[in-house]
Amino acid sequence: MPVHNQIAPGELEEVRRFINTWSIPNQTRIETDELPHWASDPQAWARELSPCPLQSADHLDTLLELRLALRKTCASHDHDSEALNIWFDKVPLSAFIESIKGLTHMRLKPAQRTYTGHILAIVANAISSGEWSRLKTCGDCQWAFYDHTRNGNKRWCGMSKGGPDGRACGTIAKVTAFRMRAAGKAG
Ligand SMILES: [Zn+2]
Repeated sequence: MPVHNQIAPGELEEVRRFINTWSIPNQTRIETDELPHWASDPQAWARELSPCPLQSADHLDTLLELRLALRKTCASHDHDSEALNIWFDKVPLSAFIESIKGLTHMRLKPAQRTYTGHILAIVANAISSGEWSRLKTCGDCQWAFYDHTRNGNKRWCGMSKGGPDGRACGTIAKVTAFRMRAAGKAG
């Protein structure tokens, strides 16, 4: 597994990609929003984001609001549930049972076939499995990444510029903390 693996397990990766349609690319450092472009191009949508196509109920305004709510929750992983509860109130999901290796799991799926419902069902299932709290946004660049660390306390997308999406986020904070500790020892 590469050091900079940020990819979320299973369908949760679709949510990570959706969140990262807004980003601040390392190269330009300018806020970029790919969502309006991809939402208007079904082929790009399927290639870049999800096998679930947009439906007529998935207005761009709705998608932008949903992305904001997901970003808000991922940024404050003491799990500010309010932003998501508004969506679970608004978009109906239905329950079903799935048997995996002899174990029975309760799962959720969208009650109506929309991309918005598809994303919310993935989030709901990730909350049940405990994976949701590991989907985070970087404290520096806001990039969404999946925290694969053992204790799940990663706060930045990458600690060096290595790797395909590597940034130096968090490095300055780490250096400052190290210097403060070193200064403390010296004094
Ligand atoms: Zn970052």
